[in-house]
Amino acid sequence: MAGKRTVLTLEKSERYYFYSEAARTITGRCEACHEEVTWITPDQASALSKLTMRELFRSIETGQVHFNESSTGELLVCLNSLGHRKEEK
Ligand SMILES: [Zn+2]
Repeated sequence: MAGKRTVLTLEKSERYYFYSEAARTITGRCEACHEEVTWITPDQASALSKLTMRELFRSIETGQVHFNESSTGELLVCLNSLGHRKEEK
């Protein structure tokens, strides 16, 4: 019975987080965007947006850039919101 419960948990998380080994990106639902978005690491977000880590985290704090935590506890940034952030500049 315990084994069965583990399988159900895995199925649920797999539905929300699709790992792409090649790109190291995760696709999942962003509650702020209300749609499926690509989640990237802060490193990737910083490189893409040309923001420093400090600027990036400030944008996260002010809610301009959405963030989420992966199942492994890694901080992930919503690529969708990062695109919007870039347009404002
Ligand atoms: Zn978002």
